[in-house]
Amino acid sequence: MKLTVLGAAQEVTGSCYLIECGSSRVIVDFGIYQGQDDDRKNSTLLPFAPGEIDAVLLTHAHMDHSGRIPLLARNGFSGRIWGTLPTVELVDILWRDSAKLMREEAEWRTKKNARKSLPPADPLYRDEDVDKALKLLSPASYDEKIDVAEGVAVRFRDAGHILGSAIIEMWLDEGGKQVKVVFSGDLGPQKTVMERNPAIISQADYVLIESTYGDRLHRSNEESRQEFRAVYRKAMEDHGKIYIPSFVVDRAQRILYEFALLQDEEGMGGDIPIFFDSPLGVKATEIYKRHGSLFSSEVQRYLNQGKDPFAPDGLRYVQSADESKKINEVKNSVVIAGSGMANGGRIVHHLKHGIWNPMNDVVFVGYQAVGTLGRRIVEGEKKLRIAGEEVLVRAAIHTINGFSAHGDRDDLITWAKNFTTSPLFLVTHGEPESADAFADALDVEGMRSVVPEPGQVFDLVAEAPRTSSVRRRTAGKGDTGRLLSEIQVLLRDARETMPKDADESLLSLLRSSKTLLETAVEKASNEQEQR
Ligand SMILES: [Zn+2]
Ligand SMILES: [Zn+2]
Repeated sequence: MKLTVLGAAQEVTGSCYLIECGSSRVIVDFGIYQGQDDDRKNSTLLPFAPGEIDAVLLTHAHMDHSGRIPLLARNGFSGRIWGTLPTVELVDILWRDSAKLMREEAEWRTKKNARKSLPPADPLYRDEDVDKALKLLSPASYDEKIDVAEGVAVRFRDAGHILGSAIIEMWLDEGGKQVKVVFSGDLGPQKTVMERNPAIISQADYVLIESTYGDRLHRSNEESRQEFRAVYRKAMEDHGKIYIPSFVVDRAQRILYEFALLQDEEGMGGDIPIFFDSPLGVKATEIYKRHGSLFSSEVQRYLNQGKDPFAPDGLRYVQSADESKKINEVKNSVVIAGSGMANGGRIVHHLKHGIWNPMNDVVFVGYQAVGTLGRRIVEGEKKLRIAGEEVLVRAAIHTINGFSAHGDRDDLITWAKNFTTSPLFLVTHGEPESADAFADALDVEGMRSVVPEPGQVFDLVAEAPRTSSVRRRTAGKGDTGRLLSEIQVLLRDARETMPKDADESLLSLLRSSKTLLETAVEKASNEQEQR
């Protein structure tokens, strides 16, 4: 029995795991890479023959988990693709859209290539490959055990991340030897807003756990809401425009819900337009509305009052590219558009037209991968090339991580602590600093962990090795992230425990730590200048 970590190893995107058990071969997720070096990684040959794969299991619809599955169908895969019903419905619209974007991009490249006598560009996959893949989809119910291949049984449990998202429990049996592996998929926070809470699982030999925010803590829902409302209030005073780069699935619906609440509770808005500029937007929202029973109790209560959580006053769906361009003329408004990392899609054009204006605001509500336009803006670059044009960044930039569909470090630890069998945690789906810091946090709690290398193979045995036969990779640069996150935790504790009228001995300790931190920051910025 073997498990190979083929993607999302020390990075966030490109999730893919191969499981071999007896003669069975099963894949969990086959996602697209986004950000740095993505074209090369996406088109790299598969390290397995798709025709030999018995089944594909899909944790959720997001493209970094599902986006390359049509490529399997294109290359001879003919088994079943299992996912929950909402996942099956969502990938239908996402894959079609993705094939369309790939076709347009290939046409554009082909024209460019022709001028240099280069061969035409080939898209990663085409509409017909998507059609093939869609025919292989099989909806799986939550909480029901299913046999997906000889010796491989699985159960989908709610992951609380987006509609239809699942944690996958997998039971492997090879000639009577049994091993249980759990794939966390992307995990929602412990206190979710839109979805139900992540399912509690207590038994496993191995757990693959995501670590997107494994090195940091989010603000609470309430704080994030207040932060969002403050940005909105300020932008309305300035009569400016708010740009919200957002995944069209889930993040966008969450933002619509936040606008609905803002109007209900604060009596604000409603008079200015909220453009949801995405041809996919209507379809994704319709799918959300069909699965009301899967929402959190908070959203269900809202629905029970006869209200639509995804239809704030002023909402306008934008379909055509012409309509999208007209938004440029509307000054005081909100624009929600994909992609969530601003590495493509209509948001790029909106940012080009408005990010230079200090009256405007850009609000990031999701993870930004290294190498994407979103990441560069968040990291404070002031001059950018956007859609072929040099633009100055003068709009106010905000990041509201508390709206994330991912749990933070403490949420992940809380979920991991549910296991009573002392499994080995394979920490994936996180940048190296984040994955390392999270592995350390698991260590501190007495849980065993490893951060797999890309392509690393694990021989699966019942009760994963208790000795340190698997050594964790600890990169030097991980130390910085870990220390900073430890300081962050200490700060939070300090805020909670420190009396308002602390005595002189406590104050003097606090002053010393402040001075030390100031010195470190100053030294770092001097070194940065010298470089
Ligand atoms: Zn996701
Ligand atoms: Zn993901």
